[in-house]
Amino acid sequence: MGKSQDCIFCKIAAGQIPAALLIETDDLVSFMDIMPVNHGHCLVVPRRHAATLTDLTEEEARACMGAIWQLAPAVVKATDGEGFNVLQNNGSCAGQAVDHVHFHIIPRRADDGWRFGWRKGSYAEGEMQKLQARIKGLL
Ligand code: 5GP
Ligand code: ZN
Repeated sequence: MGKSQDCIFCKIAAGQIPAALLIETDDLVSFMDIMPVNHGHCLVVPRRHAATLTDLTEEEARACMGAIWQLAPAVVKATDGEGFNVLQNNGSCAGQAVDHVHFHIIPRRADDGWRFGWRKGSYAEGEMQKLQARIKGLL
């Protein structure tokens, strides 16, 4: 199993440092985030050290989504949530602080005071289609 010596999530997955575990399978662990956006915020982390989502095998990625699917309703119910976000940051430019791929499950309430400030951009005429073709060409 690939393991990075100084990686905090590898150490949690290996049981070398404590965490409030929720799920443990051959493929992944899930545990409570110690600095939660909202109480109940938890993480799904593949056991094998990989930096970003696209460093996972498809099977590992599927296993993570399965755990999210299983966990999210329990997290929402336990916290009297009204909904939840699944967040997954890749690269420091995207806010990734821990260099071992992980998925955030964050229970949400309308009154929880946390907003993304989601930007609503736009395309010039034809710009979106150009980019669409470029992306499709790279698939
Ligand atoms: P990122 O910004 O990389 O997407 O998120 C990293 C997350 O890991 C943060 O939400 C942070 O609170 C959490 N975290 C960092 N160190 C530890 C730790 O030692 N234990 C636990 N349970 N969570 C951690
Ligand atoms: Zn790691």
